[in-house]
Amino acid sequence: MALDGAMVSTRIMTVHRVALDVNKTQDELFSQCAGIARFSWNWALDRWKSQYSAHRADNALPKPNEAALRRELNAIKGTEYPWMLQAPKAVPQQAIKNLGAAFKGFFAGRARYPNFKAKDRCRESFRPDNGPGTFRIEGRRLKLPRIGWVRMREDLRFGPDREPALKSVTISREAGRWFAAIAVEINHSFTPRPDEEVLGVDLGVTDLATLSDGRKFAGPKSLGRNLKRLARLQRSHARKAKGGKNRARSRAKIAKLHARIRNIRQDGLHKLTTGLARKASAVVIEDLNVRGMMANRHLSRAISDMGFYEFRRQLSYKLERLGGALMVADRFYASSKICSACNTKAETLPLSVRSWTCANCGAQHDRDVNAAINLKNLAGSEDFAVRPVTACGAEGSGDGNDPVTKPAASKQELGSDQKRSSP
Ligand SMILES: [Zn+2]
Repeated sequence: MALDGAMVSTRIMTVHRVALDVNKTQDELFSQCAGIARFSWNWALDRWKSQYSAHRADNALPKPNEAALRRELNAIKGTEYPWMLQAPKAVPQQAIKNLGAAFKGFFAGRARYPNFKAKDRCRESFRPDNGPGTFRIEGRRLKLPRIGWVRMREDLRFGPDREPALKSVTISREAGRWFAAIAVEINHSFTPRPDEEVLGVDLGVTDLATLSDGRKFAGPKSLGRNLKRLARLQRSHARKAKGGKNRARSRAKIAKLHARIRNIRQDGLHKLTTGLARKASAVVIEDLNVRGMMANRHLSRAISDMGFYEFRRQLSYKLERLGGALMVADRFYASSKICSACNTKAETLPLSVRSWTCANCGAQHDRDVNAAINLKNLAGSEDFAVRPVTACGAEGSGDGNDPVTKPAASKQELGSDQKRSSP
């Protein structure tokens, strides 16, 4: 870490998300590109599976890998799938790269086995560029290979003093509208804090976050209201006749509400993680086994709503940008059961118990605050493993389809400081 008071300059990666104004031809072309990306993913997944079983039957045959699959598709697409040629050549390539990344996440134990993408169940998205120099921006116009100029709703927000360098662009449709997620490398400077302040943060289901200083953050209130509305819409959707006009209309309504819920959740998380990163020089959190908890159906809804992975991802890169550090406690550390006053471990403490009294020293504890204090204390202790994590090591949101988060060339930092442009 840098010396007190000295300004630190670095290059970081960030993502600007902009709504696009497309004409009818572009709208159709975008849909086709998203279809080609989906087809390429499914094609490669199918080949991956059969090549893997072939390899298991005969070890002399190679294991599947994404680079070989890209070459394979490239060699046959002109003759077998000529309709693919209308999309930028990067579209199928990047889709297969995404599949490779999804398998990497799976083998590392942080994501599920990749699935085939069904047309009506996956988000329409594709990446038309092959990296820096293959697309450009002039004012409010974005030039994509083969597709040409597309109008953006706003300028790229980074001025020339930050020397923005375009890295990649991902196009996706959300609730009927097209967006571009533009990954940009920019100059970033900060002055490290003179004093060290460590915070422990307990992530929960009742409250989104409880801090070791006693503060609690509930998730955004409007989230619950909108979730109830969503459940109602989904029930009425199920009653509508298949293939009918009403069903299509209610599907569009549901998609719109899903988008709103995502935005509310994202806003709440950004506010919380920004506040934490500004206040603390180090934050200690638990390594939650989210995949294990997801198997528990009662907890899973609340947890995915709270976005633990997203919380950790945002906090990690925001702390790093300000010279701070995120530390993760060992998964088996019993942060809730240990008395933060005398270090005695309580025998049992069911999830329903929100406050308790230590049998040894008589200290009264709020369950979550006590856990947060224990996590904070871990930062200074030598007898328990607390691992600092970097933004690059952090897990993604788990859908294996987030091609915009790549480490910057100069420094291993990243983040997607997404600016929502939807209404
Ligand atoms: Zn005690």
